[in-house]
Amino acid sequence: MICDSCKLDTATCKWEDLPVSLCEACKNLLENTALRPDMWFRLARIIGPNHYILHDDFYKEDGCPYAPEVKIDDNEYKKYKIQRGGPYADESDFIDDILTRYLVHEEEIVIGKSLNPSIIFKLVAKEIAETDVEEFRYTAYQIMGNLPSTDQIHKFIYERWDNDKNEYWGAIARCAIKHLPESELLELIKSSLLTEEWQYPNDCLEVLTGFQSKDAIFIFSEVVAHRKLALALNLGAYLRACNPQWSIIKKFIKSGRPMSLPAIDCLWVEDSPQYNRYFSRRKLTPIDVDKTELTEILVEYLKQDSMPRVKKAVISIFDKYNINTDV
Ligand SMILES: [Zn+2]
Repeated sequence: MICDSCKLDTATCKWEDLPVSLCEACKNLLENTALRPDMWFRLARIIGPNHYILHDDFYKEDGCPYAPEVKIDDNEYKKYKIQRGGPYADESDFIDDILTRYLVHEEEIVIGKSLNPSIIFKLVAKEIAETDVEEFRYTAYQIMGNLPSTDQIHKFIYERWDNDKNEYWGAIARCAIKHLPESELLELIKSSLLTEEWQYPNDCLEVLTGFQSKDAIFIFSEVVAHRKLALALNLGAYLRACNPQWSIIKKFIKSGRPMSLPAIDCLWVEDSPQYNRYFSRRKLTPIDVDKTELTEILVEYLKQDSMPRVKKAVISIFDKYNINTDV
C-alpha cells in the first residue's frame, strides 16, 4: 500500500487508529509536526484539518509547519504551499480546498463560473452521506448552502433532516434557510427548536438570525417561553441580529420574564466587545426607538425586576441613547 502522505513510498504503518497509512519518513515528519504542505493537505482531506495531529497550533492555513521539530528545507516547502481560493482544476479540487480549511465562513465560499453547481451538489451530497469525519459533513452543508436552489437539494435536505438536525443543526438549518421556501421552513425550524434535545440549546437559536423576518422573532419568543433556556446575553445578541422593531421589543419588555431579558439586552448588546463577533458579518438595521417611551418602560420595568444584571443593562441602554435618568 502506498503512503497517504507522500503518495510515493510504500506505507509500513498506520497512525494510531486512524485510516492513515504512512511510510517511515512521513511518520517521522508527522511525529515532529513537520509535514510538507502537500502532505498535510492529503492527510487533512482524510481525517479533517482540525484533527489534533494537523491542528492549527502546528500548521498554517497554507499547510506550512509553524515550528517543525526536525530540520526542514524552507525553500523546498514553500514550493508546496497550498493555494487557497483557486483557480481550481475541477469541482473536486474546489471541494478539497474548502474542506481542508480550519474555519469556513459561508460568505467565503465562492463558486466560480468555471465550476458546475450540479457536479458540486453530487460530490457534497456524497460526502455528507458517506464521510466519517464530522467536520467534513458540516462544511459540506455549508458548501451546499451556497449552491443555487434545485429540487434535488430540496429533496436532499428533507431526506437528511431527521438524521442530521441534532448534531449538525447550524449547518443543515442554514442550508435549509437558503433553499426551502419560507412557508415550509418556519414549521420545520420551529418544531425542531421547540422539541429537539440539544447539547447547547441557546446556540441553536442563532440560525433564526438568517431569516430576517418577523416570523423568526416570534419563533424566537416562543422557544424562549417554552424551553427553560439560560437567559444569557447571547440570546439578546441573536434577537438583535434578527433586526426587531421597537414596537416588538417594547411588547416583550412589558410582557416580563423570560422574554423581557433578551429584549432589554438586544438594545445595548451590539456595543459590547464580547458580542461584536455576532454582528460583524450581519447587516443591522438601527432600532427605531422612541426615547421617551423607552425611558418610561425601563424605569417601570426596574420596579418589578431590579436584579443587578438588569440594572446594568438598563444603565448601558441609557448611556447608549444619552438618557439622563437615574436608576
Ligand atoms: Zn510517505
